[in-house]
Amino acid sequence: MQTHILGYPRIGSKRELKKACEQYWSGKILLEELLNTGRTLCNQNWNIQKEAGIDLIPCNDFSYYDQVLDMSLVVGAIPSRYHEVVLKKNNSELDLYFAMARGYQKEGLDITAMEMTKWFDTNYHYIVPEFYKNQQFKLSSDKIFNEFAGAKQAGINAKPVIIGLVTYLLLGKEKEEGFDKLDLAGNLLSVYTEILTKLQEQGAEWIQFDEPFLALDLTEKAKETYLSVYSEIRKRFPKLKFIVATYFDGLKDNASLAVSLPVNTLHIDLVRNPEQLDGILNSIPENLSLSLGVIDGRNIWKNDFEKSLSFIRKAVDKLGSERILIAPSCSLIHSPCDLDFETNLNPEIKNWLAFAKQKVEEVVTLKELVSGTEKEHILEVFEENKKAIESRRTSSLIHNDQVKQRSNAVTEKDAQRINTFKTRKEEQQQVLQLPLFPTTTIGSFPQTTEVRSWRAKFKKGELTAEQYDILLKEETQRTIRWQEDIGIDVLVHGEFERNDMVEYFGEQLEGFVFTKNGWVQSYGSRCVKPPVIFGDVSRPTPMTVYWSQYAQSQTEKWVKGMLTGPVTILQWSFVRDDQPRSETCKQIALAIRDEVVDLEKAGIRIIQIDEPAIREGLPLRKADWQNYLKWAVEAFRISASGVGDATQIHTHMCYSEFNDIIENIADMDADVITIECSRSQMELLNAFADFKYPNEIGPGVYDIHSPRVPSKEEMIELLRKAQNVIPANQLWVNPDCGLKTRHWEETEKALIAMVAAAKEASVEY
Ligand code: GLN
Ligand code: ZN
Repeated sequence: MQTHILGYPRIGSKRELKKACEQYWSGKILLEELLNTGRTLCNQNWNIQKEAGIDLIPCNDFSYYDQVLDMSLVVGAIPSRYHEVVLKKNNSELDLYFAMARGYQKEGLDITAMEMTKWFDTNYHYIVPEFYKNQQFKLSSDKIFNEFAGAKQAGINAKPVIIGLVTYLLLGKEKEEGFDKLDLAGNLLSVYTEILTKLQEQGAEWIQFDEPFLALDLTEKAKETYLSVYSEIRKRFPKLKFIVATYFDGLKDNASLAVSLPVNTLHIDLVRNPEQLDGILNSIPENLSLSLGVIDGRNIWKNDFEKSLSFIRKAVDKLGSERILIAPSCSLIHSPCDLDFETNLNPEIKNWLAFAKQKVEEVVTLKELVSGTEKEHILEVFEENKKAIESRRTSSLIHNDQVKQRSNAVTEKDAQRINTFKTRKEEQQQVLQLPLFPTTTIGSFPQTTEVRSWRAKFKKGELTAEQYDILLKEETQRTIRWQEDIGIDVLVHGEFERNDMVEYFGEQLEGFVFTKNGWVQSYGSRCVKPPVIFGDVSRPTPMTVYWSQYAQSQTEKWVKGMLTGPVTILQWSFVRDDQPRSETCKQIALAIRDEVVDLEKAGIRIIQIDEPAIREGLPLRKADWQNYLKWAVEAFRISASGVGDATQIHTHMCYSEFNDIIENIADMDADVITIECSRSQMELLNAFADFKYPNEIGPGVYDIHSPRVPSKEEMIELLRKAQNVIPANQLWVNPDCGLKTRHWEETEKALIAMVAAAKEASVEY
């Protein structure tokens, strides 16, 4: 039996890579220093694994930005617009690479970056390869070989991790018409052959091909490509040992295809889909080994050894231990680095957690436990593990009977407003008296350096709570006055008191903890630190009433209350795995519901519940969509349905497409939905128009991602487009999203023009 991992976090436990990259980009350090940081991180990661006793240690899992972009560089899938970057003197391979990731704006060049998108259902983003008809590939970087050599120097015959050929193609985008990216497999295979030849010469024994697409819905053509590509690779390299790694879902209908690939080992994700084990054990051919992904690479919980051992023993019984490998479910880049740095966590909670470094140790412990060659301390470790699991099952920190009872008692009625939208609309209009094309914003106003410095000072104790409160009140009041002055109809308080739209709520809810160093790479040098939902969620006291009430007291106009919705809070956190996600979501929904009711009691008549993450929560397999959408939409409705008909509920969603989920969006039954729309020139509205979406909609009329100030005319034009497909009395006028990343200067100009556009459009009407 062997142990391995699919990949280790490369950012460093103190985010060393982030810092070095950013310093390099701003010209503060030289290339050599950045490369040194990279090498040091690789060596540290290898040593952690070597010391823990991992058998097959990966290399080429390191990356300065993104592993997919690495592959594009290696195979020479470099779009022609970057060729000029190479010609500039002093530019290294890494400069070209960063230009592809981030664009290049200097020395008279202005080249856009390549597109970025989410890596399957994670919060990691990869750079999308660009494909052209008859594209030729060419080995263009020594990255893989250098890393392999680096590991060798550290005394490790490493297992290079390479994105599988089919997955690499499926991740990319065809940039011209008239061909299918899978048709490029033949051309690409010649570069893969070169790579493997070199690695073999260097002494590589094992190669890991990541093929997560095998766990997704596949077309017939993709299936055929899998078979032909891997048969060809096998033929050309009879001696190399290949691992095909699948993760993020089960193989399901692709299982027979996967076990028929002529490789040495198949890795399966037994965390996401434990049910697949039996089927695979029954169908696996004799010459194929199985790598069991039993440790959750996507979450921060300590592994339940007893449970994992039952899987491993079952597999060993059937295949014999020589054909078994033990591993985490997927690469550990989705886990934070090292729990040892968490010195502020409640020790009871800390004892339930494992980050990447601890997961590496768990893999080895599991092997020692099954092999029976027990070192003395191993049984102790096992006992400790059982105790930790038991403590999580019973701890009063986690389990709150009141919350569970309340959640169990939720009925369909709790997820329903009192009357249908038609009745509500009339009642709301009577109270709110809003004009045609009412104007509003999405919630946040600029988080200036000053505002952020107040928060930092308050945290450090340099400002008292009272001083901080006064500063925030002044900023809020100024913002209210300003919105009044320019004539916005529905005001917001500006969200100056908030650091982040999930963290702000998590900090005030029971059942959440925050780590000090639990960073995970999101894209490039950007890292996020998701909150940990460890227990039953409840809301001890109101969270936003104070600020909404204060803002409302400053004006005669309506101020919109501002909340983050249950699905988004769930989606952007590490979620407990001892109950279904749907149950945790329902608990959060009840907490938000209480807040909505309290806002109403405090005189707030318009309340927005943001759900930008609803779409990204969609499961990878289409067959699972409806089940997810059912509980996600229900959670939103639970949060929104505690109020009277006259209270207007808004929701907001950005970067979404709605075509295939429009029915579910309508089912959320928000009185008003604001969406990001301007960059698509109102095209995203068509889904609502075709569906005859009955409630009100605010399609964003300007892009908040850039400092550019839109003209009144272009916004009027967009409003005309909107009116062509949606009746005017259903339309709101607002920006695409919150304004927290903008400066006041451009915000002021843009909103003044937006209000003027709305006025003119309503006169025209
Ligand atoms: N209310 C939030 C804001 O304005 C919404 C942010 C979002 O949709 N991502 O910042
Ligand atoms: Zn948004």
